[in-house]
Amino acid sequence: MSSTKTIGIIGGGQLGQMMAISAIYMGHKVITLDPTADCPSSRVSEVIVAPYDDVDALRQLSDRCDVLTYEFENVDADGLDAVIKDGQLPQGTDLLRISQNRIFEKDFLSNKAQVRVAPYKVVTSSLNLEDIDLSKKYVLKTATGGYDGHGQKVITSADDLEEANALANSAECVLEEFVNFDLEISVIVSGNGKDVTVFPVQENIHRNNILSKTIVPARISDSLAEKAKAMAVKIAEQLTLSGTLCVEMFATADDIIVNEIAPRPHNSGHYSIEACDFSQFDTHILGVLGAPLPAIHLHAPAVMLNVLGQHVEAAERYVTENPSAHLHMYGKLEAKHNRKMGHVTLFSDVPDSVVEFGKGIDW
Ligand code: AMP
Repeated sequence: MSSTKTIGIIGGGQLGQMMAISAIYMGHKVITLDPTADCPSSRVSEVIVAPYDDVDALRQLSDRCDVLTYEFENVDADGLDAVIKDGQLPQGTDLLRISQNRIFEKDFLSNKAQVRVAPYKVVTSSLNLEDIDLSKKYVLKTATGGYDGHGQKVITSADDLEEANALANSAECVLEEFVNFDLEISVIVSGNGKDVTVFPVQENIHRNNILSKTIVPARISDSLAEKAKAMAVKIAEQLTLSGTLCVEMFATADDIIVNEIAPRPHNSGHYSIEACDFSQFDTHILGVLGAPLPAIHLHAPAVMLNVLGQHVEAAERYVTENPSAHLHMYGKLEAKHNRKMGHVTLFSDVPDSVVEFGKGIDW
């Protein structure tokens, strides 16, 4: 049997593109499903142009590929179940359903994986908010459809209840206690259906709810870093994980609290392309193919900066002045405000000296 496979990727954004690049240099062929003909993956793969929930297009992808994967979690799980052949989607659709709905996700994390999450309760209407103890702070989040802080309301006093009640009456929600964290961190873990491999802990800095900067290794104690990695491994094992998963967490002074999981390579793991001996995309491809997974080594401390639409010129200037920085541009045609256009990775053990694009005077 040939070791060369045809891999079908649902979604042709930057994550799909970087997965495809890893697959291609391992000798595989890639076909992408994306609604946009000139999506980032079109630079490196054939694209079937159709909406993600187009069952005929999904069937075509399934017929033409040995293995299927996805670059984002909002794929129609029922549509996929209707067309995929046995074992063709090693990540499975259950993981999609868990990560699409915060109620399922919290239940999975706290009861099945048994990792620590912020105390929470399910909210189905504003009635569930009537008796909350306002001496504490909370975040109310819609169960589905929220991303980058959308569909969320922080509750710090009775003044916030009007908006919170409206959100609670518009959709099913979870009400979480607000965590006074020191740092936001994440851990990338990959599985091949048997074994898992784990990446170093990343520290993430967000601006306007969008990831702006990732610092590796995260500036937390060795014991907290080991704890974070162990939690990610526990979650991966509970899922019998295939492919790459990102676990987003909060680090407090003495503990780690899991916030959410993303069943795919993640923006906070992009540094691994240059800074680790295998990237999160390499291990994703190896994992979904059921191949043995390498242990991951970080070559040196690194920083990744996101390049949003408004930062493209600054980033280009930056790498001209700092030629040892690696510029990645995803090939998106239109540089819209806050749209992720690319990223820069550089080695540095003084991460505070690496200034984010969009921060400070020059950018
Ligand atoms: P999420 O959509 O769950 O990733 O939340 C977006 C951002 O809101 C996170 O990156 C945190 O900065 C913040 N956040 C979410 N949940 C909490 C929480 N329980 N306590 C404090 N901050 C939170």
